[in-house]
Amino acid sequence: MRSAPPTTYPGPHRFADEPPRYTVVLMSKRPRVLIVGGGFGGLFCVRRLAKADVDITVLDRSAGHLFQPLLYQCATGKLSIGHISRPLREEFARYPNVTTLLGEAVKLDPTARTVTALRPDETEFTVDYDVLVLAAGMRQSYMGNEQFARWAPGMKTLDDALEIRQRILTAFEIAETLPPGQERMDWLTFAVAGAGPTGVELAGQIREMATKTLAHEFHSIEPEEARVLLFDGGDRVLKTFAPDLSAKAQHSLEKLGVEMHFGVHVTDVRRDGITVTPKDGGAPQDFRARTVLWTAGVEAVPFARHVAEVLGAQTDRAGRIKVEADLTVPGHPEVFVIGDLVGRDNLPGVAENAMQGGLHVAACIRRDLAGKPRKPYRYRDLGSAAYINHGNALIQIGRIRVSGYLGWLAWGLIHIAFLTGVSNRISTVATWLASIARPRRYHRAFMLGASDRPEQRYTYTSRDDEPEQRASQA
Ligand SMILES: Cc1cc2nc3c(=O)[nH]c(=O)nc-3n(C[C@H](O)[C@H](O)[C@H](O)COP(=O)(O)OP(=O)(O)OC[C@H]3O[C@@H](n4cnc5c(N)ncnc54)[C@H](O)[C@@H]3O)c2cc1C
Repeated sequence: MRSAPPTTYPGPHRFADEPPRYTVVLMSKRPRVLIVGGGFGGLFCVRRLAKADVDITVLDRSAGHLFQPLLYQCATGKLSIGHISRPLREEFARYPNVTTLLGEAVKLDPTARTVTALRPDETEFTVDYDVLVLAAGMRQSYMGNEQFARWAPGMKTLDDALEIRQRILTAFEIAETLPPGQERMDWLTFAVAGAGPTGVELAGQIREMATKTLAHEFHSIEPEEARVLLFDGGDRVLKTFAPDLSAKAQHSLEKLGVEMHFGVHVTDVRRDGITVTPKDGGAPQDFRARTVLWTAGVEAVPFARHVAEVLGAQTDRAGRIKVEADLTVPGHPEVFVIGDLVGRDNLPGVAENAMQGGLHVAACIRRDLAGKPRKPYRYRDLGSAAYINHGNALIQIGRIRVSGYLGWLAWGLIHIAFLTGVSNRISTVATWLASIARPRRYHRAFMLGASDRPEQRYTYTSRDDEPEQRASQA
């Protein structure tokens, strides 16, 4: 999309304690702000900037804002995809100065100040900007073992959640049709790599699903027999939480029946199992499991790596971009980086940091427009929360630590407060209330393809095909 010639955005003025870096230029047209990514950072930036005298374009590769903290509930059938996502177009419809575009940013031209994006039909379009806000987040990392992705889906997108739902529920279905023995047990074994919040939540939910939701629905298998194995390189679950809270979570997981293995690296993932190697150099150990889920690491999305390269910006190992105190790329005061992509002061990869970053950038742009100096970004840690199982969650806010039922209530309130859209909030609360009375999961639908369409054949996972087979079907 090509629009009018460049406007004269005044640019940043200066921090209160720094000499001016820019000469103020009077504006003749509305400045164009391009936000790449409509996640937490992008959303909050738009909300704060929407009434300013700027034209905003939000470019996202998906059509909806995704509430990632509840992805695991979608993956395990507690919530639907509609509960945890909201169309960006609907979200921004009330703001006349906001344009929403679907496309994957692939190329930055910092001289022409354009971003090129790919449409889903693989054609390209270009968007101009005066100010660029990079809010594209992170993706799952397999830490150099990309081949693991074939057997072990990660958990970052709606596609991931639906694939995980499909794999978990299909595993129980396939087990039901097998005679007792090793093969059946393999289908009833679930391995989860990574004992951070996502791994803990997934492991707990699979056991809870097996012991409560599915317990009385099968005739041949006993779903309660399902084994859930949780692997981590550290020495405890939820390393970012205080040790006493982490110990409580571990105790709850043990009671649920999750088998935990610490101090190990996953060194192989196969169609039918996983190999882990102790960090201290012991002998590798194989575990049989037909479902392997990966939550063990994150890295910058490819476009962020490209931006860093084009702008000559430094990055850390995961690809987070080193930024100035106002969250701009050094030497490029017109390019902001927010959210998970920020590589500064060990800022955490949490929603709160992205939201505050979005608000900060909006404030900087408003100050630029008003001829006032920008302020440096200050992150306020408002605490963390993790769901363990029904009626049990952890909250840590500074020295305040809450767990159990009280933690669960607080966790529910926090998540409802930040879910996007009133109707999503109401329907999520209604669904949760309904599942308090009965351990049901109302959103277990999953797809298995068609028998008459070779390109979408009847299977529980397209990744199970040999790569050559997939190529011949394409
Ligand atoms: C499973 C899971 C559970 C989590 N639980 C919690 C929690 O309980 N509490 C908490 O605080 N945080 C949690 N987080 C972390 C939190 O979700 C992130 O910190 C937050 O989403 C980061 O916001 P962001 O705006 O930087 O990126 P994101 O929210 O990831 O948004 C990035 C957006 O950019 C888009 N995008 C990516 N590449 C491109 C491209 N090339 N072109 C166009 N668009 C692009 C994506 O589609 C996405 O919409 C969780 C994360 C996950 C994955």
